[in-house]
Amino acid sequence: MGLFDFLKGGAVQCPLCGAPNARKSGDRVVCPNPLCRNSAEYQQASGAGGGTSTAPAKPSAVPRGRWQPQQPLTIRYRNFQGTDQTYTGEADSCRLQKKHLSVIVAPTGRRITLRRDRVQNLAEIERFCSQRVAPGQDWPTPRERQVLNYHKKHKTTSPLYEQIRAKYPDW
Ligand SMILES: [Zn+2]
Repeated sequence: MGLFDFLKGGAVQCPLCGAPNARKSGDRVVCPNPLCRNSAEYQQASGAGGGTSTAPAKPSAVPRGRWQPQQPLTIRYRNFQGTDQTYTGEADSCRLQKKHLSVIVAPTGRRITLRRDRVQNLAEIERFCSQRVAPGQDWPTPRERQVLNYHKKHKTTSPLYEQIRAKYPDW
């Protein structure tokens, strides 16, 4: 089975969330809303569907010291002793804070916090990190990110997605 099974068959209304474009798959309803318990994504995430997960490896799911970013971001950093260091971070995980930036780095897969004024290629890093949220705007919640990433990946949409997308037009 695959995520695209719901593209076959006629459209029905999801009995759980009321989405109008759910699909019948055998005797169950597959809902396009990724937050709905009838969605293929939810079924996979909960393990109830029995399918293999296609989600990218989370840092916590791979052994320490072997984690590699999917979109490497090279951060040149001068530490408090004046020593230059280079970090390879996951671009997708980079969050700008007021005086710091936090990013998941290889090879540990752990999130570290760096002082912005010690990042040597800050302009480059900031441009990447800040393009997804407006200055001063909160980062989307994990659920919002799940919806944003799901529909972006599958090139689909939903009322909920449009609503979140309006908040994060550059996501
Ligand atoms: Zn639903």
